[in-house]
Amino acid sequence: FKVPVAVNEPIKSYAPDSPEREEVLKTYKKMYAETIDVPLYINGKEITTKDTATMSPPHDHKHVLGTYHKAKKKHIEEAIATALEARKKWSQMPWEQRAGIFLRAAELIAGPYRAKINAATMLAQSKTIHQAEIDSACELIDFLRFNVQYMTEIYAEQPESTSGAWNRLEYRPLEGFVYAITPFNFTAIAGNLPASAALMGNVVVWKPSDSQVYSAKVILDIFREAGVPDGVINMVMGDPVMITDTVLASPDFSGVHFTGSTHVFKDIWQKIGNNIHNYKTYPRIVGETGGKDFIVAHKSANPQQVATAIARGAFEFQGQKCSAASRCYVSKSIWKEVKTFLQADINSFKIGSPENMNNFITAVIHEGSFDKLAKFIDAAKKDKKAEIIAGGTYDKSVGYFIDPTVIVTEDPKYTTMCTELFGPVVTIYVFDDKKWEETLELVDNTSEYALTGAVISEDRYALETAVKALENAAGNFYINDKPTGAVVGQQPFGGARASGTNDKAGSKLNLYRWISPRMIKETF
Ligand code: GLU
Repeated sequence: FKVPVAVNEPIKSYAPDSPEREEVLKTYKKMYAETIDVPLYINGKEITTKDTATMSPPHDHKHVLGTYHKAKKKHIEEAIATALEARKKWSQMPWEQRAGIFLRAAELIAGPYRAKINAATMLAQSKTIHQAEIDSACELIDFLRFNVQYMTEIYAEQPESTSGAWNRLEYRPLEGFVYAITPFNFTAIAGNLPASAALMGNVVVWKPSDSQVYSAKVILDIFREAGVPDGVINMVMGDPVMITDTVLASPDFSGVHFTGSTHVFKDIWQKIGNNIHNYKTYPRIVGETGGKDFIVAHKSANPQQVATAIARGAFEFQGQKCSAASRCYVSKSIWKEVKTFLQADINSFKIGSPENMNNFITAVIHEGSFDKLAKFIDAAKKDKKAEIIAGGTYDKSVGYFIDPTVIVTEDPKYTTMCTELFGPVVTIYVFDDKKWEETLELVDNTSEYALTGAVISEDRYALETAVKALENAAGNFYINDKPTGAVVGQQPFGGARASGTNDKAGSKLNLYRWISPRMIKETF
């Protein structure tokens, strides 16, 4: 069971005049000037339909990057049928071959396709080059490499045997097919959700987010080149309700690997419940959903550190990480200083297209998101309980730009302290120095979510009370850091409560969900 030891892919700097900067810019410009057509991909065949939609960069929404094709019900049924046919061979394929394919995919991204996958993520999802590099290059490579290592660790887990009997666990894939639904915000997650299930021997029907089809196509082509056989990973786009309903109606549906919104996940769960008598096997339901992630800063905290954690935690990638800080609690005696540092940080952010590498903030993903954020900002402007101390302005004439916005409120249950906004808006509540315990209680009971959270303090007693009081408030809990930026192999990622099933992406815990072990006892 020895495989190459997984190591995290080093992040390239993209410093001015570096060869990687030049290459990614050249690739970005070339891809911007071309238009592409993304067909459905079923059983190794590209299928076009008459029903298409266009793709545009969120920071330049009048520009067209290309079109993608939308499936009809018959295409989804075909994808399921061909996946099940492909399963016959794929599930019997020795694990070394599956490992070889996904390790090769990792190296293709690390080398020849790094600029392309980063440029695609910059164009389709408006990530800056640094965000794209961390996500679509390093994190995706890490998922692929570490999962191969975790797979072999799982396979090596075997029960004890006695001399007269040999007990062995056979790690089979699920009986049926897996449905992967992937979000716009991480190219790495788009690659990982189908790949991790497939690595464990499963076949997959994959529906990428509409806002990410452009970069999903790059991933798909890399998987194909790496040797994923026809029918093992099938990519379909189109009406999400029709696709989901068709998938969930199949008796062979054996699991969903999901990242996206809480309400869609709950809907899927409910539909699975309604269909439960039709399935051959109990489906695995694995989901990472919403968040209302927090930072709580004790009076002993270093104000500059608090400001940096808020600025980076809330505004990197325009706050469109499930892990982004969106509600903060700052102790009164340090607030003045935190505010000054935070405003200075925000004033230094440059805003615009990711093509200009000095920009730190680019556009939010689409008009729906822009309009929702603008609505909450406008409401805060009118509300006596809220004060906007940075940003508060927006403009969608060229791209969906929302200036990084900080709302300060005297009401700890103010709407933007509780509602998930998924954008560059953070709300801060300043609390009385003497009310540390009460504030921790507030942090715990203000939100239905429990994805990430951070406590900042130089006082060990304060840290200890926070670690205990917030035991269930975050699946990923950070001490003296921002609540974002989990690294595969270092911080397995996932939350509980309304944030998901907490099956920790980038860990063995997640891979266990894609196998159905058989225990074999042989007596002699
Ligand atoms: N793993 C990412 C982080 O720690 C967030 C993933 C997500 O947004 O779903 O920042």
